[in-house]
Amino acid sequence: MPYRFIAPRSQVREAEPYLQLNELTTADYPVVILEDGQVLRKTTIQEVALAIGLKAEAQYELYDVVVVGSGPAGLAAAVYGGSEGLRTAIIEKMAPGGQAGTSSRIENYLGFPNGVSGMELSRRAYAQALKFGVEFLSPAEVDRLELDEEYKKLHLKSGKTLISKAVILATGMTYRRHPAKGMDALAGISVYYGAVISVVIFCSI
Ligand SMILES: Cc1cc2nc3c(=O)[nH]c(=O)nc-3n(C[C@H](O)[C@H](O)[C@H](O)COP(=O)(O)OP(=O)(O)OC[C@H]3O[C@@H](n4cnc5c(N)ncnc54)[C@H](O)[C@@H]3O)c2cc1C
Repeated sequence: MPYRFIAPRSQVREAEPYLQLNELTTADYPVVILEDGQVLRKTTIQEVALAIGLKAEAQYELYDVVVVGSGPAGLAAAVYGGSEGLRTAIIEKMAPGGQAGTSSRIENYLGFPNGVSGMELSRRAYAQALKFGVEFLSPAEVDRLELDEEYKKLHLKSGKTLISKAVILATGMTYRRHPAKGMDALAGISVYYGAVISVVIFCSI
């Protein structure tokens, strides 16, 4: 989903048509302005996801395959599941692409001799999965997996449950967070766990 980042103090005029800026306090941030002019204040990933048309609720009770994680491994597995005519769902707690989605250029992925940005690779793989009828649930986080004879029950953090004949765990890795007080709230804003070109813009404003 294309977006522009507007820092609260530096280029705030660009948001003026949508907001009574004087009214905003730090308690309102993060503020998201949607394409149709709708303004979300102190918003969450879940709220933004719903507003841009993603869904976190499963359509069916039973699936042939459920893939957990939508990095390159999960997306590839989901494309194969869908293309074989299996009822396939993919569950992602953040956004399609996983770690690869943050890479500015991947040079060693098969079929892209000139390289491809992680975002473009994810966008293509996501579209390919949807083409094969894969159901994409996001943001949704799998909390627990329970075996029930030949079925697997996936318990989501939301309290919902999905049942599948097969489960593929493609959860990749997560960065260990620095334990110092206050660091969590600043992750992705001014504390970064990797040197990626795409965050340079946030560091220079
Ligand atoms: C900045 C950067 C640049 C890179 N560049 C390259 C490169 O040029 N070439 C290269 O070969 N590799 C590169 N890598 C490494 C490559 O991106 C990873 O090896 C690859 O993404 C791993 O894919 P994956 O699908 O196994 O896991 P991940 O990409 O880690 O995806 C796992 C997904 O699972 C989701 N998830 C985890 N737990 C749950 C849960 N409980 N419920 C729901 N969802 C869950 C996560 O949110 C995530 O989206 C790069 C990595 C980074 C960070």
